[in-house]
Amino acid sequence: MDVRRRHAELVEAPLKPNKLHHAGKVAPPAPAAFHLTNASSVVVFFSAVYYLLSRWREKIRTGAPLHFVAPSEMVAIASLVGSFVWFFGFDFVQSLILRPSLETWTNDETEKAEEVIVVPLKPKMVEPIPEEKVIGTVNITSAEDEEIINSVVAGTTPSYSLESKLGDCRRAAGIRREALQRATGRSLEGLPLDGFDYQSILGQCCEMPVGYVQIPVGIVGPLKLDGVEYTVPMATTEGTLVASTNRGCKAIAMSGGATSVILRDGMTRAPVVRFGTVTRAADLKFFLESPANFDAISAVFNSSSRFGRLQGIKCAIAGKNLYMRFSCSTGDAMGMNMVSKGVQNVLDFLHKDFPDIEVMGISGNFCSDKKPAAMNWIEGRGKSVVCEAILKGDVVRKILKTSVEALVELNVLKNLTGSAMAGALGGFNAHASNILTAIYIATGQDPAQNVESSHCLTMMEAVNEGQDLHVSVSMPCIEVGTVGGGTQLGSQSACLNLLGVKGANKKTPGDNSRQLARIVAGSVLAGEISLMSALAAGHLVKSHMKYNRSSKDVLKVASS
Ligand code: ADP
Repeated sequence: MDVRRRHAELVEAPLKPNKLHHAGKVAPPAPAAFHLTNASSVVVFFSAVYYLLSRWREKIRTGAPLHFVAPSEMVAIASLVGSFVWFFGFDFVQSLILRPSLETWTNDETEKAEEVIVVPLKPKMVEPIPEEKVIGTVNITSAEDEEIINSVVAGTTPSYSLESKLGDCRRAAGIRREALQRATGRSLEGLPLDGFDYQSILGQCCEMPVGYVQIPVGIVGPLKLDGVEYTVPMATTEGTLVASTNRGCKAIAMSGGATSVILRDGMTRAPVVRFGTVTRAADLKFFLESPANFDAISAVFNSSSRFGRLQGIKCAIAGKNLYMRFSCSTGDAMGMNMVSKGVQNVLDFLHKDFPDIEVMGISGNFCSDKKPAAMNWIEGRGKSVVCEAILKGDVVRKILKTSVEALVELNVLKNLTGSAMAGALGGFNAHASNILTAIYIATGQDPAQNVESSHCLTMMEAVNEGQDLHVSVSMPCIEVGTVGGGTQLGSQSACLNLLGVKGANKKTPGDNSRQLARIVAGSVLAGEISLMSALAAGHLVKSHMKYNRSSKDVLKVASS
């Protein structure tokens, strides 16, 4: 290698975006003293090479053992290595050993780390790359792609139109992602692009995709529920959650299993309409709530779907505004779209008898979707489920490492009294939302509905003369479906398949989604049992330190 020529190239080459040189950070020119020390390192390097070669030749000639290294030879080897490192820079030598990927975009962690190691005149050896080709992780396959990226960056092609313009969802996502990186100067490295079916989300699950987030899926079970054993998938990044729920499942199974009951099954939507007077608003309220009108209204409502069936309408008046909470069964769908279509049909129909009706919004928050509301807590929304188990005293002691009395006492103090003190709305439980949300994400439910779906009252009572523990969860708003939304995506439908509730139930529409709601309640029961036991036994912090707070140096992990 012509070291001098290479060095000259390095000094003179324009600095490109790389680990040592970010946009906005220009390395200062080399000082004269620096040239001198570099020249010295070259002299030391070649002198050491010459000396070592001559010593080697001498040993071969005299038959001396080659592995015997004299002190002078050690000094020569050290000089050789030292001058090499000095000349090329420590980071270059390190890069030869570690072979890092060519990281071109800025990210916070590397930026911080590099502020410490930036040294002028020791740039990394990178070939000059035209600015627009510095592209991180996306393969730009054609000049046409390059042109489209530039037009998205320039704003001439709207990013949202890429799918329809290109007719290739993967290509659209790749181009959007690259345009985004260039426009923001921020790296998306780490957010995977490939390995996902972008066609499957088009027009249904997510607009303007640039990749997908990976969430690990763990399993708990067997969850013995209503005489059947389930293995339940949970998507979470919270250490201890799966392990803890699994322990609850074990306690339930060893005690004979849990039992669930579906109390109610109906999705709701409540539009708000306005009239000129309070009287007119009241007229419509009485019209809608009169049993004599139900058949006509439900015929209109039901015509929008094969599965949506009107169950009832509950009205509330605020001055001359009327809120009408329609409730309907939705088969195996979670049902928000279905109920909205039915409500729209009824609103159109009402115009005939109430021409002065003014529809202010198809959703007036009396529904109430994705917000905590007493309405849901009392009336229910989606599936209302109760689930119980009687844990044997032995199991409580051996598996849960606590006692029936301690659990009953803690439940009263924490889940009932403590929550009352906090003014809770539906939050009379230890961590129902933890288990529920993990199952929602794994099975393609709308995770934002965890708000009301997690409403849960956990009860614990001593039974069988204080020997055993009766534990139950009452959950009035489990909003789940096995068709529609995210449930049809590959990974989510695989998780539904594991539970045996994938897709529509052909025999009895609605049975699959109701079964999923039971499983959610059963899993929540297991989670409640285990966390309450850990708290009662004082184990919570210890197990979190073991599973959730690893001993890894977080700063090192983040910057590596
Ligand atoms: P949601 O109402 O939960 O938002 P969709 O609007 O996607 O979900 O509705 C579900 C779709 O699936 C509807 O078009 C419906 O006709 C269809 N479907 C097929 N089988 C069933 C079933 N067993 N239960 C409910 N919907 C079903």
